Amino acid sequence: MQLSRIDLADLHAPKAIARAIFAQLGTIDAPVPVGQIARALDITDIKTQVFGGFEGMLLTDTVRSTGAILANTRYGNRRARFTIAHELGHFLMERHKLSGDTGFTCKAQDMREMRADKRHYRQEAEANAFAIDLLAPFKLFDPLLSQDPDLKDAQRLRDHLNISLEATIRRMIEHREECLAAVWSRNGRVRYSVKSGRFPWITCMRGERLPQLSLASQIVANNATGFSSVTETNPLAWLSRSDIELFEQTRMASNGHAVTLLLADLADADDDEDDSGLNELSMPTFR
Ligand SMILES: [Zn+2]
Repeated sequence: MQLSRIDLADLHAPKAIARAIFAQLGTIDAPVPVGQIARALDITDIKTQVFGGFEGMLLTDTVRSTGAILANTRYGNRRARFTIAHELGHFLMERHKLSGDTGFTCKAQDMREMRADKRHYRQEAEANAFAIDLLAPFKLFDPLLSQDPDLKDAQRLRDHLNISLEATIRRMIEHREECLAAVWSRNGRVRYSVKSGRFPWITCMRGERLPQLSLASQIVANNATGFSSVTETNPLAWLSRSDIELFEQTRMASNGHAVTLLLADLADADDDEDDSGLNELSMPTFR
């Protein structure tokens, strides 16, 4: 594989860089060969193994004369692929300031960062935006989406693109036009949630039990592994307002991990709201 870094030199936006890489690659099949792409862009070495204390590391210098990537496989190879793409993002976005003398050290939390209000957050969020654009380009992502939002799509996309289920769900929420959110839980307690800009405030907080009124809490209590159907639910289970039609679907794994997709129908509630372009500005943080 041959790629030119010169063509990417003047680009700074994550999307633009990913687009320019695909323009050089031409037609490409899933899964995206992230290791080959990194090597073709002057990453001389990629080490994937179980490391302690960090999720990913990029050894480089300010002018990016060379680069080497370490990616932790503690949470599996799919997560490691995302980590490689994330570190490649830091390498190609030359405005990103090194986090230490020898390059970048990124923790698991950095791989989920979406905030932009501090330089560190913004750099991590940009590396994540680049990683998902590189690993899940819409050309390969969209053909596997059903007409209506469904967690089964996320699982198919996980296998097709060889990225984590979490990454595909985040991509679905960000990309689909419906108003979506997802809540990850373990043993019935909320771990974290992600929502699209228009989705109303989710009332349950990290560490709390899944809401008693929710269908998810019943599914988890019954240890009903697999996918539930998409079912209308009491909006007050998850939200502080009752004027919204709310649907939920849960995927429960055998190890106590579950993810619940929430779909809000705002058609009646926000009829008079002008949502043209204001969503991103008002997007809150998700934790
Ligand atoms: Zn990072």
